[in-house]
This record gives sequence, C-alpha cells and structure tokens, in this order.
Amino acid sequence: MDKQAPGPRVFANRFADAVGPGEISAGIDRCSCFDQGRVQSSGKGVRFHSERQDTSAPGWMHMLALIEKAAADGREVFKPLAEMSPQERRQVITLPPSIGKLTAVKHLVLYRSNLVRLPAEIGAMASLEVFEPYTSHRLHWFPYELTRCKNLRASTVSTRSIFGNFKYRPPFPVLRQGPLPSGGLDPGIWGADSISSCSVCGGPVTAWGVRQAWLSVRVATDVLPLLVNACSEACVEALPEGAERHVRVPHSGGRGVVQPEAGYSPRPSS
Ligand SMILES: [Zn+2]
Ligand SMILES: [Zn+2]
Repeated sequence: MDKQAPGPRVFANRFADAVGPGEISAGIDRCSCFDQGRVQSSGKGVRFHSERQDTSAPGWMHMLALIEKAAADGREVFKPLAEMSPQERRQVITLPPSIGKLTAVKHLVLYRSNLVRLPAEIGAMASLEVFEPYTSHRLHWFPYELTRCKNLRASTVSTRSIFGNFKYRPPFPVLRQGPLPSGGLDPGIWGADSISSCSVCGGPVTAWGVRQAWLSVRVATDVLPLLVNACSEACVEALPEGAERHVRVPHSGGRGVVQPEAGYSPRPSS
C-alpha cells in the first residue's frame, strides 16, 4: 500500500493555458447581443453591454495586483487570466486604466475572457506586438486608441463576435454626440463609464463634449470595429479610410448604416 505523501497536496497550475470545458464555462457569462452564428434578421438593433465593473470584487483586486507586479518586473508576456480562478476571471469585465503602465509587454493574452470592453489606456502599451483576446465572445469592439500601439503586428480576435464582422454583419450600437452628462456615464449608452480625452488627438474633452464614431480598420491581423471618442468634428475628419469590404467612412451606428453584404453565409430568407 502506498503511503500518503506528507504535507499538503500541491496541484501545479499546469493547465492554466488549457483549462477544461467545465472550468472555461465557469469563468464567462453568456451574451445574447446578436447572433454570432448567422446573418442577423434585419431590423434588430444592438446596444453596448451595460455592465459596470465591481471594483470591490476579488477578481478585480487580483487583476490590479497582477498589473502592478508585471509593471514592476518589466515582463514581455502578460497572461493575467491564466493566474486567476474561474470565479475571479468572471468578475473582470474590463481592464483597469493601469494596463497602460505595461509599456514593456509585447504579448498580451486575454484568451477566453469575460471582458465586455477595454479601456482607452490600452493604447499606451507602446511595445505591444501580439494581442490575443481570442474567444472573448462578449468583446464586440475595441477602443480606437489601440491604433497607437505602433508595434502591433499580430492579433487573434474571434471575428464572429465583433460588430460589423464580414461573416455576418451584425449591426453597430447607436453612438452619441454632445456634452457628457455630469455624474458619470452609462456604459450601456456611451460604451464606457468615463471619457476623458480625444481618441484621435489625445487632447482633453471639453464642455463641447464628444463626437463618437465607428470605424472598422485593419489592426494587426484583423479588421476591428473601433470606437472613436473625438473632441471635435476636425478630429473625426482626420480619421483614415475604413477597411475594404467594410463601411469606408466613420459612422454613428444604428439601423441606418448600410454594410456590405455578409461574406460567408446565405442571406436570411425572411
Ligand atoms: Zn454581447
Ligand atoms: Zn481631438
């Protein structure tokens, strides 16, 4: 008969990069914003996710600590979710602004996250080369500030999960323009709970408010729907042309936007 090993049993976290199906589903919530498997029936609009980050949740606290640690040791690969329990991963629906401190990180892995949005500060990750939010099926758009990551050369984004994707052409949420309401923003309406600077020029957002715009452009490997929070019409006019096979100009979302035909699916019969 084998003797019981002395001391506490230690389970190495060797499956952190390949968690089993049960563990995966425990770490994410379902999303029904739009059908991610076929062309939308016409007339159905979409909205932004309205969830707010619970900043007292253990998962959020753990994320903050992991970012501080990574900023201090200057690592080049950052895979925070692999170090968190499924419960903790589920509690993280955005990243903190401090992600912008990770200026040495070249490879950001957010595989199978429960994220619904990313902060503009991700654009400060100056060394970022590889961005992997793959199978984050609730992450439907990205901040325009991601285009500031000039070294970005590879990405793995789940195409069918993003607004305006060429496969199924889900619609875009309606955007706003004008002064920002006092007392904070409703992320279900504005896409974020705060907007402080212009996505294009980096200048402050003044009393005039913001002009929001969608623009689908190629970022690394993928064409991504990017949300622009511009300080002025001039900054919207300064935007580049949109990607081929997508709406080529900045637009405000909603049902009035005419997208190119869906690429890989029969058109809906009704
Ligand atoms: Zn969603
Ligand atoms: Zn501006």
